[in-house]
Amino acid sequence: MKIGISRLHFPVTTLGPGKRIGIWLQGCSIHCEGCISVDTWQFGINSVSLEEVKILLELWLPESDGITISGGEPFDQEEALFGLLQFLRPYEKSILMYSGYSFQQLKTKKEICNGWIDVLISEPYDYKQPQTKALMGSDNQQMHLLTDLGKRDFESSLEKSPEKKLDVQFEKNTVWMTGIPSNGMTEIAEIAKENHIYLHHTQGVIKLQKP
Ligand code: SF4
Repeated sequence: MKIGISRLHFPVTTLGPGKRIGIWLQGCSIHCEGCISVDTWQFGINSVSLEEVKILLELWLPESDGITISGGEPFDQEEALFGLLQFLRPYEKSILMYSGYSFQQLKTKKEICNGWIDVLISEPYDYKQPQTKALMGSDNQQMHLLTDLGKRDFESSLEKSPEKKLDVQFEKNTVWMTGIPSNGMTEIAEIAKENHIYLHHTQGVIKLQKP
């Protein structure tokens, strides 16, 4: 089976408790205005074998505290997503998933009803909304604790304000930022510019350029 993967990261420390494996799926049909991950929208690219993905994840899983799946839109490739969840579930690590679909649209899905994921953050990103909730980009988004494992790891997040932390990974001339930046990437680029660092960004992708 093939799965569209934008990128895999470990450790991710900004999207849920502990050291988590971050799985960004490729392809999103929702296209929220102001999305910081526009590089994950296109379908039909970065298609890889699910078996290859499992081999890499097996290396990280023993050291990880949980898994965070985002995108792209995970439910836009539901069959591959379910194959991934079937592989991950026996490890008993909390699985947090972001989706831009509404809970109303998702609530009868087997992944939600049958304990395949522990926590769902639903609803599309809305840049016009305030951003006061931990782990969420806009206040219209909702966190659903679906299992006991989800409650154990994420219940305290419901009470918290956003910590506005980012994980940063360098890869050749590209910097990947993982987390939920305040006001998206534009503010980061402006602050960098004040410090004579010039960042060219397409919301999701930032490329370093010498001044
Ligand atoms: S925020 Fe998520 S659901 Fe919305 S366009 Fe971006 S990747 Fe798609």
